[in-house]
Amino acid sequence: MKKASFTPAAPILAGFHQKNYVKWSANKIVKQGIHPLMANFIPYAKQQVDEDDIAAVTAVLRSDWLTTGPQVASFEQALADTTRAKYAVVFSSGTAALHAAYFAAGVKHGDEVITTPLTFAATANAALYLGARPVFIDIAPGSFNINQALIEEAITSRTKVIAPVDMTGLPAPVEEIMEIARGYGIIVVEDAAHALGANFNGKPVGSRADMTVFSFHPVKHITCGEGGAVTTNNRRYYDKLLAFRSHGMVREPSLLMENHGPWYYEMQQLGYNYRITDIQCALGLSQLKKLTRFLARRREIAARYNEAFENCPHLLTPPVVPGVEPAWHLYVLRLAGDNPPRGELIDRLYKNSIGTQVHYLPVYRHPYYRDLGYPAGLCPNVEDYYRRAISIPLYPAMGNTDVKRVIKVVMEEVNSLYERLLSSDVENIHHSS
Ligand SMILES: *Cc1c(COP(=O)(O)O)cnc(C)c1O
Repeated sequence: MKKASFTPAAPILAGFHQKNYVKWSANKIVKQGIHPLMANFIPYAKQQVDEDDIAAVTAVLRSDWLTTGPQVASFEQALADTTRAKYAVVFSSGTAALHAAYFAAGVKHGDEVITTPLTFAATANAALYLGARPVFIDIAPGSFNINQALIEEAITSRTKVIAPVDMTGLPAPVEEIMEIARGYGIIVVEDAAHALGANFNGKPVGSRADMTVFSFHPVKHITCGEGGAVTTNNRRYYDKLLAFRSHGMVREPSLLMENHGPWYYEMQQLGYNYRITDIQCALGLSQLKKLTRFLARRREIAARYNEAFENCPHLLTPPVVPGVEPAWHLYVLRLAGDNPPRGELIDRLYKNSIGTQVHYLPVYRHPYYRDLGYPAGLCPNVEDYYRRAISIPLYPAMGNTDVKRVIKVVMEEVNSLYERLLSSDVENIHHSS
């Protein structure tokens, strides 16, 4: 066999941690002699960048602005329009946007941020950045989102923020959570990194919570390479977000403590350099124009998957919530039974050149969080979900042939794995009798 050289092509294997993913793939190559780019490998997610996106970026490289310039302002306006929010502030990443949103909400050392452990770690990490403690609430049974019925009993005098996550692109019940929060003067920051373009009772995600956070990482709906945003209807949060993005410095005359002249700016709080470039925003703006098309394709593929897997007794398809139009960032199947053969299914799909991922290890089970004292088993529904979940390929550039192949291979492998499980159960019964 020809020796595989895969590093230069690695960026097409989109993932949160491309490096780890490639490392993992490399181990598999050694073990199984399989090259992930051979035999029509289908990754679980992938960006779509077209010639017009590239043209938009190169035009900026020829312009007078490389960072904070007209593309940043246009992208922010377009995001505000899309989400029907008054303001949008873009950041260097979704994580930076979360950090800024919690800061604008007034989160300080010793405060608590209520969130779900079924999320990318950044939702909780951003609370730690500010010296606050994440408080993890379980998901509702059968749901992917935080159980709003458990929120109120978790509220203490130190609770500053409730951060629901629109897991997989399925909007969390933010209206109900806002109502709970109002009674306590708590601020709701919705992590909508999965949910750009989703609707809840006809209302777009982005204008429901006090602040809403988006990510433009390549696996998300649209990409800037790296990037994020906060949308809000509140002027006070907007001013704080802007200052936090750039060292806590303020130029706007009406907000200055002193004013020494037209050159003058002052640092009023400790901020960061979380700015995003005009180069990236040109890409984001060009991508945002395709959001409707991207979403339509994601929904089409999800509908095909639903139809194909719905009647399989070994598989649970994603929850359906009345009035909700998900953005389908991820398509998560859950395997049924007491011993879901998830790891084996992932291996078998990989051997068939189909990439998958697991979203997510419950945040508190990461070694860093374990060391902070969070016990294993803290949220039983999330733990149960975690044993069963597998994200199968879903991205707008995925062709119908690929969708068909995923369906065929998943059905074949699932049926064969469960047949074996069933026969080993019979054997166990024989042995024990
Ligand atoms: C992607 C993601 C983030 C972080 O966004 P980055 O742009 O990668 O920093 C935060 N929360 C969730 C749920 C995400 O999926």
